[in-house]
Amino acid sequence: MSTSIHLEDLRKEFRTLGSTHVAVDGLTLDIPDGSFTTFVGPSGCGKTTTLRMLAGLETPTSGRILFGDRDVTDLPPQRRNAAMVFQSIALYPHMTVRENIGYGLKIRGVSKGERDARIEEAAETLQITEQLEKMPAELSGGQQQRVALGGAFVQDPDVLLLDEPMSDLDAKLKSELRVEIQRLHQELETTVVYVTHDQTEAMTMSDQVVLLREGELAQADPPRRLFDRPRSEYVARFIGTPSTNVLPCRVDRDGSTAALVGHGFRVPLPADALPAAVGDEVRIGIRPQFLSPDAGEHRFELTVEVVEPIGIESVVHGRTDDGTRVDVVAAGLDSLRPGDRIVVGFDREHAFVFGAGGESVLFGEELVDGRGRSIR
Ligand code: ATP
Repeated sequence: MSTSIHLEDLRKEFRTLGSTHVAVDGLTLDIPDGSFTTFVGPSGCGKTTTLRMLAGLETPTSGRILFGDRDVTDLPPQRRNAAMVFQSIALYPHMTVRENIGYGLKIRGVSKGERDARIEEAAETLQITEQLEKMPAELSGGQQQRVALGGAFVQDPDVLLLDEPMSDLDAKLKSELRVEIQRLHQELETTVVYVTHDQTEAMTMSDQVVLLREGELAQADPPRRLFDRPRSEYVARFIGTPSTNVLPCRVDRDGSTAALVGHGFRVPLPADALPAAVGDEVRIGIRPQFLSPDAGEHRFELTVEVVEPIGIESVVHGRTDDGTRVDVVAAGLDSLRPGDRIVVGFDREHAFVFGAGGESVLFGEELVDGRGRSIR
């Protein structure tokens, strides 16, 4: 079973020692029925607090939570049919894996026969059938987290809430469990809400990614749209690795032709693209993968600081003469050394333009065909 979720102007304040901290600030959002939605963002942005409000473990200060058309804002956790798995693995050490997985069913009075059938189905999906009669202490961290997921799986929840369930695991176990969780989502046909601070996890697993910033919604969209159409410099920098390069520039006009002028490059603006005033400061965002050595319409020079080979490609961390840090990802750069000078370039169709407040005002194709919004 599954349900859609609607958050309406959700707010959570914590009051400690006379001061008030707003952890979640006016969050309005739709989570489609059966989707895999991931909350992502830096530490402290309100991901866990939102998830705990969905679970019923935290009471919103104001706003509403709907599961389908049912208002669950004031319902206790056990009446929401939501299962939650936490970052720290919480298993009963004195119970076998089988008993741990089936515990939630047992306290709900489900018969032993049905319990065993559901435990074995979950164990098979999560590839822990061999471990069913073992004690938690005999399992690896990854296996223990699978047991915790199994306990959620057997409850057939409408909503499965996962709070950084992989953060304590090593990279290999993480990538394995990532696949298990997606398999679990498909088999359960449940609505999954997942919390992580790892944007790669968010981008690879989700139907919808919700990026938060200091308790507020920065953007909620399918991964590809978040990547191609970031609403702001904050989104562009958070999504994608290495982070999007941000190059300061100024609006200039030469007769009837406007342009964005940065350190060593000049990007012409189509006539109606950016009705900004001459001298306005804006920023161009360009992903490291869209900067090419000795190619591209608009070129500038860099001093190489660090080179990181990552297989066929390398990441070059460099700096322009005006001190702007720039990363480049491309093949054939592994022979570069710190101190080397290189010329890199980009095509304007790949650029983002950010206004003074950090909002996206133009995307690449609008720079080419001139259908932008005003930054004024
Ligand atoms: P992380 O990735 O570090 O877990 P997060 O995005 O999940 O971060 P939250 O745990 O939701 O962030 O916390 C949001 C803000 O609310 C933080 O500033 C945190 O210190 C504060 N906060 C969370 N829980 C409480 C609490 N019980 N009392 C007071 N402040 C709290």
